Amino acid sequence: MRVHAAGQTDVGCVRKGNEDNLLLDNSLGLFVVADGLGGHAAGEVASQIVVDRIGQFISQTVEQDRTWPLDYDVSIPYDGNRLKAALLLSDQAIVEDIRSNPERESMGSTVVACLVSGSRVTLAHVGDSRAYLLDPQGIRQVTRDHSWVAEQVANGILTPEEARKHPFRNVITQALGNGGELDLAVQEMQVKELERLLLCSDGLSGMVQDFDIWEIVNRAPSIQQATHDLVERARANGGEDNITVIIIGFEPDGNNDSVERS
Ligand code: CA
Repeated sequence: MRVHAAGQTDVGCVRKGNEDNLLLDNSLGLFVVADGLGGHAAGEVASQIVVDRIGQFISQTVEQDRTWPLDYDVSIPYDGNRLKAALLLSDQAIVEDIRSNPERESMGSTVVACLVSGSRVTLAHVGDSRAYLLDPQGIRQVTRDHSWVAEQVANGILTPEEARKHPFRNVITQALGNGGELDLAVQEMQVKELERLLLCSDGLSGMVQDFDIWEIVNRAPSIQQATHDLVERARANGGEDNITVIIIGFEPDGNNDSVERS
């Protein structure tokens, strides 16, 4: 199995700055999308702290023999612990940054991050940044948003279609850096050849329907082109928020590993 990835971030058509950040590191098998909250000069700081801190911790923990900075969860594998600790440390890093920069008090960040090792994918998220799994037959969201509308959908109170249009659709119930307890779900899955894992901020999933995301990715001649086409579609649909997308492709052996970023 060969892994390759492409990612793109775009300010969109309405916002003045881009508060999203992304990280693609094929040598670590680490891919991250972070969506900063808190407005100009705060949101982008928060999402930058998140990608930096996660990248740093994951690169420091390639070898297993190190002192663990937080509680080690024996119920999940090593990569799950790496990802969980990386997210918790990035949460702490934002809180510490706010302590020395009180003007950034309202900042925070959502995140979706995955560690890829061959066909094994370990995935964690906070907030409404999402991961989808795509294959030639369809698309499936593999994260459940930490949002008010997602809770209503889970409880059968709203339909997914009502949730998409609901005035509270942007209300998230968890974010990194807001000082609250985090309920971090880490999941592990096995992917198959020709499947694609897509990570995105809500600037994509809020502007482009799941079926359209699938169709655009399926039609594109490369994942690089697919990231470009998805950003263009989100912009064409209004581009109301910053748009970030990473696509990770799993190919039969023979193609070279590569990371494409723009
Ligand atoms: Ca956003």
